Amino acid sequence: MRNGDANSQVPDRFGRWLRDLRISVTDRCNFRCRYCMPREVFGADHLFLDRSELLTFEEITRLARVFARQGVHKIRLTGGEPLLRRQLDQLVGMLAEVDGIDDIALTTNGSLLAAQARGLRDAGLSRVTVSLDSLDAERFARISDTRVPLSQVLRGIAAAEEAGLAPIKVNTVVKRGMNDGSDVLELAGFGREHGYFVRFIEYMDVGTTNGWRMTDVVPAREIVDRLHAAWPLEPADPDYTGEVARRYRYLDGGEVGIIASVTEPFCRTCTRARLSAQGELFTCLFASSGHDLRALLRGGTDDAELESHIQALWGRRTDRYSELRTTESTRARKIEMSYIGG
Ligand code: SAM
Ligand code: SF4
Ligand code: SF4
Repeated sequence: MRNGDANSQVPDRFGRWLRDLRISVTDRCNFRCRYCMPREVFGADHLFLDRSELLTFEEITRLARVFARQGVHKIRLTGGEPLLRRQLDQLVGMLAEVDGIDDIALTTNGSLLAAQARGLRDAGLSRVTVSLDSLDAERFARISDTRVPLSQVLRGIAAAEEAGLAPIKVNTVVKRGMNDGSDVLELAGFGREHGYFVRFIEYMDVGTTNGWRMTDVVPAREIVDRLHAAWPLEPADPDYTGEVARRYRYLDGGEVGIIASVTEPFCRTCTRARLSAQGELFTCLFASSGHDLRALLRGGTDDAELESHIQALWGRRTDRYSELRTTESTRARKIEMSYIGG
């Protein structure tokens, strides 16, 4: 056990310990990826959270301290688009000071990274994951439904590398008919060329607005076979226990990852909790409701009470949605990915 008082930490009902926390810092985004925030739903009249509803940096840091005592040592900042939250580097600096937190990562669409990479690194950010679904400028624009050009994202990735935010990970959601043609090999080739760890992700039924159908999922096996045909691969060991990406090593060097959340779920090793931008705790990406920690924070609850509350919630956890999912999306009410963070 790494941090906190081991005796005060509890596993959930399936013996899984709380180890990582994903923190969404905003529900806003400058992209409208069709599989995440389709414009028909997240249009001009969509009501995003008001600034006063967002957890402040002080509130986030206070919670991080409490979570660290409950065993969390890894934090990932996400959103919406986390780099839209002003002065995110300040939050990174505050989190870097929290005892027991040894890894702070960021998942971003990369569009605002070029200007911020160095400052984030200096503040204590360890790593960055950039989401990128195509290297074809037109297809990129269609999928992300944004005016931000692909070149800006590529500049962001290069800046992150220069700033030392390595190893750079690239997340690619593969969806049937969207980018399951030449994109897969092009993105894998891009990773091989630059030494980035590209992770292909099966399209998931997160939220209820993206119209998910099982037939849109490109199974991990199919992606591995295609990669293998181009550049022979062999399975590699995970970097750490509970790594969600299955790693493969190219026989001529380098690695690639596959996140088979739908066809080969990994709930058994899921040690993650998620905190929404307005301070609700979710113990599963597919949860239908969260637990309001902001009300406790703003209602005068002290740290010890907060900690026992979180401990009790985790101790009751029985989530394993992906293992139970069939070919249908099996829950009518689910939180949107942009709200809860990926
Ligand atoms: N805006 C940032 C970004 O895109 O990296 C962070 C938030 S985004 C919700 C986090 C991750 O979730 C991204 O890598 C995105 O591709 C992934 N994602 C969103 N919707 C998804 C879905 N339906 N299935 C699989 N992955 C999804
Ligand atoms: Fe925005 Fe990320 Fe969702 Fe795309 S995947 S709409 S970039 S939050
Ligand atoms: Fe974890 Fe829920 Fe995903 Fe299973 S479905 S891996 S429990 S977040």
